[in-house]
Formats: sequence, structure tokens, C-alpha cells
Amino acid sequence: MSKTVSLRGKVVVITGGARGIGLATAISLAKLGAKIAIGDIDEKTVKESGTEQDFDHYGRLDVTDAQSFGTFLDDVERELGPIDVLINNAGIMPTGRLVDESDQITRRILDINVYGVILGSKLALSRMLPRRNGHIINIASLAGETHIPGLATYNASKHAVLGFTDTLREEYRGSGVAVSSVLPTLTNTELGSGVAAPKGLPAAEPEDIAAAVVRLIAKPKAKARVTRAAGAMSVFVNLLPQAMGDALGRSMGSAQTFLDDVDADQRKAYEDRVRHS
Ligand code: NAD
Repeated sequence: MSKTVSLRGKVVVITGGARGIGLATAISLAKLGAKIAIGDIDEKTVKESGTEQDFDHYGRLDVTDAQSFGTFLDDVERELGPIDVLINNAGIMPTGRLVDESDQITRRILDINVYGVILGSKLALSRMLPRRNGHIINIASLAGETHIPGLATYNASKHAVLGFTDTLREEYRGSGVAVSSVLPTLTNTELGSGVAAPKGLPAAEPEDIAAAVVRLIAKPKAKARVTRAAGAMSVFVNLLPQAMGDALGRSMGSAQTFLDDVDADQRKAYEDRVRHS
């Protein structure tokens, strides 16, 4: 996975592309000449974003529904040609203590963040392997290699995405299909609203994650951690003995960041959206 690839004319599908990291990534890739298809469960917003940005294809896509996902990819291939890159980006992050989390929300997090990524990867592989060409990029999180009170199910989902993606990369090594994960730190989108960044590690902007995805497509590699500082901290913490790593996390405020320190008023619109979509 080392040669540099041109983005011009590449067909790129981005799930959850109506807003946030997915939309910023779509805009960055479109500027470089890629053909962009965004799909999102929020039909109104995906159509607004698609029209505003004049993307090549946009519409409703539910990553938890095999029929919806498959039909979306078929439509893209019919209109734009073979899919070069699938970015499995759709995800939700309800916050709070596990004892207060309804079963419906637990299942929804796993359904979108884990099953959606597995399903998308399967659908992409079945199209890309016969052509011996393609790139699957799964948007995980630095939460996938750490543990943060208030995010237990979300943490579990992102750990799963990382394990899944690393496994696929080895399973399809030498097949012509590249498989990568992106691990953003807290990023200024609606998903992170009302949550303060850890001490000493400023939040990223969606454009920072988009830039990392652009670099990843141009030059595929296994993982991209964003920001560089937050990524280095994550790698470092994982080298420490457990008790020391946990203590360092607490000293940076992690025990309350996603619990008592959340600004519930600022976060309300996001929590309402993901709990009722
Ligand atoms: P966001 O809420 O701004 O955008 C996510 C989009 O996914 C929304 O438009 C939503 O409608 C869509 N979506 C939700 N369920 C869907 C479904 N079933 N099918 C299709 N689309 C669906 O969030 P974001 O911050 O842009 O997050 C994008 C990805 O980045 C997520 O996987 C998230 O876990 C990850 N991430 C975000 C942050 C952060 O702090 N913002 C940090 C690390 C990782």
C-alpha cells in the first residue's frame, strides 16, 4: 500500500454525507476532481447538501438496511461507473451512563456504527474484488483505542470497527482492494456538540479529517489518526500499564467529559436527532 493515486475522476461514495465529517470530506474530494455520491438517512438534509454542492449523486441511504445500501451502490455504479472508494462514515454517539441507556439505543448504536460498516464493506468488496481495485475507508474514532465513561456502547462500537478493519486488511491483502481506518479525535460537528475537548488536546475541525482522508486515498495506509497530537497521545497511553493510562486519562478530564461536564442544552438537538431518527 504505497503508490500515490490521483483523485481525478475517482468515484467516491460517502455514507452519512449530509453533514459533518462526511460532508467536509465530500467537498474536499470534489475540489480535487473526484465524482461524489453522498447517502444519508436524513433525506431532507442530504438533498439540500447535494444540491448546494452540486454533487454527482445524492439521496436517502440507510446503512442498516441491506436493500437500501445495495440499491444505492447499484444506482451510483449505473450513473457514475465502478465505485473506487467507499467511505463508511455514518455513525451516532448518544452519551450518558450505561444504566440509563435504553436497549433500543444500545442496538441502534451497534446497528449503525458496527453492522452498517460491516454491511458496507461486504457490498463494496463484492464489487471491488472482481475488478482487483478499490479502497474501503472506515471512519472509526480514537474512542476505538481508548475507553471513556459516558460512551461505553460507542467505545465498544469503535473498538469493533478497528478490529474488523484490521482483519479485512489482512484477509484481502494482495487482492487489489485497500482497507483503512480513520481515527478522529473529538471534532467540531453536531455529534460533538456540548462536549469540551480533553485538556491540552484541542478538537479537530471536520476539514482536518477530510484532509486526512484525501491523503489516505492518495497514498493508502492502514490507519490515520487525527489530530497528530491526539493520535500520538492515544498511542502513548496504550503503551502505559493500564492503571497509569487510566490515571492519565482522568487527569485530562475524561471521567466527566461525556457525563456531568456535558452542556445538556447545547447537546439537546443532537441527542433528540439520533434518538428519534
Ligand atoms: P454527524 O452527526 O455530524 O453526521 C453523521 C451523519 O450520519 C448524519 O448526517 C446522520 O444523519 C447520518 N446517519 C446516521 N445514521 C445513519 C444511517 N442509518 N444511515 C445513513 N446515514 C446515517 O457526525 P460526524 O461527527 O460527522 O460523524 C461522522 C463519523 O465520524 C461517525 O462515524 C462518528 O462516530 C465519527 N467520529 C466523529 C467524531 C466527532 O467528534 N465528531 C470523532 C470521532 C469519530
